[in-house]
Amino acid sequence: MMIEKPINTCSKKSCNNCEIYFKITCHFKILQLLRFYAIASPSFILGGIGLYNYSLISFVIWFLIIGLFFLFIGIRVLCTHCPHYSESSYFLRCWVNYGLPKLWNYRPWPMSILEKIILISGFSIIWSYPVIFMLFEKKWVLLIGYIFFVFLFLILLRKLYCKKCINLSCPMNDVDCIIKEEFLKNNPLINNP
Ligand code: SF4
Ligand code: SF4
Repeated sequence: MMIEKPINTCSKKSCNNCEIYFKITCHFKILQLLRFYAIASPSFILGGIGLYNYSLISFVIWFLIIGLFFLFIGIRVLCTHCPHYSESSYFLRCWVNYGLPKLWNYRPWPMSILEKIILISGFSIIWSYPVIFMLFEKKWVLLIGYIFFVFLFLILLRKLYCKKCINLSCPMNDVDCIIKEEFLKNNPLINNP
């Protein structure tokens, strides 16, 4: 069933008959959030096991880096540019970051180069950190499993999420150009990335 109320940035009266309704994801759907947890958790669980085996302190440091990045830095550089951030709720409602408080205002312009560098660097640090400790410990099976699930996660993320994501200036965004144009036509408040 189609949701009738367009998102805040959209100037259309209704989502009914919107040609891109099924091609880009404007509205939160719980199943997509659960699917995200399912594809993201294996790499984090294996990474956590590898670090915990090495030492509690290495595990706690990773945990803190993840918290700092996904709760604050990532939200600031990435999500504040996302149309989901302009919705009226005090908490984010999206297929990845559901329930996080909105500490800043929505910024309808594209991510800057510096923000993109911070985002990619954050991802790289988070996913490469456990590799160093698994190499020290020579946990080859765990290492191969971890790398496999990180790549599987990135492939599925790109295929299932980035292809339909409304945050068009994210460096991972992969929405088709024609759909992008149509979305921007409907959402004139968003500056063209
Ligand atoms: S672009 Fe606007 S009308 Fe179309 S699905 Fe998204 S919110 Fe609804
Ligand atoms: S869809 Fe992506 S960019 Fe938008 S709020 Fe969610 S995590 Fe942030």
